[in-house]
Amino acid sequence: MPRQFFVGGNFKMNGVAQSITDIVKNLNAAKLDNSTEVVISPPAIYLALTRELADPKIGVAAQNVYDKPNGAFTGEISVEQLRDTKINWAVIGHSERRVILKETDEFIARKTKAAIEGGVSVIFCIGETLEEREANKTIEVVTRQLNAAAKELSAEQWEKVVIAYEPVWAIGTGKVATTEQAQEVHAAIRKWLGESISAQAQEDVRIIYGGSVSEKNCRELATQPDVDGFLVGGASLKPAFVDIINARI
Ligand code: PGA
Repeated sequence: MPRQFFVGGNFKMNGVAQSITDIVKNLNAAKLDNSTEVVISPPAIYLALTRELADPKIGVAAQNVYDKPNGAFTGEISVEQLRDTKINWAVIGHSERRVILKETDEFIARKTKAAIEGGVSVIFCIGETLEEREANKTIEVVTRQLNAAAKELSAEQWEKVVIAYEPVWAIGTGKVATTEQAQEVHAAIRKWLGESISAQAQEDVRIIYGGSVSEKNCRELATQPDVDGFLVGGASLKPAFVDIINARI
């Protein structure tokens, strides 16, 4: 079976009830490629509102989740609380959390495991900084990030993961990876899946690209054999998000 194209919208810490309502209503009314899986990720405080408003075909993702089931963890949200709010996805390991909030590979891996075990699928973000790319360390870095998750997850659990390759230097900078750069890393990730997880995971797990994806560059990126979709930040807040969802029609 071919991998289903996947487009995520990461709103980050943007929007208020009114603007998020407008975005969701715009998506509900738009003609979206039926063969694409769409998942939007508003700030935590608007998850319930978004789930209530969005067409049931549209998935909703938290931008983070904690690895412990409950207890004295001020400011955190549990997997059970997400499920209770009908939120079936979480973005985990975004570079803004890795870099600004100092989340480690191991912590991110534990959160990924907790989410999947609790029935929440994961958009697992990885990617290198500009310094690391210039030092030719891209594959080493993404492999290290993936290996941390592989220590926690069974081969079957990878079926609940969408890997988002997001080079840090391309996020929010307007500097998109070339189609060749994206395909090269995606192919390396797919090879890693085959070697480190299973032939099934290599075949099935979706690898999406993120970093300055726009309605202008999405079509070319979508032609690459190992680019199974996108994680979109800035452009997911704009009407052009619909064009990105429809990149293949
Ligand atoms: P961007 O963000 O599309 O604004 O570059 C992507 C992301 O951080 O997921």
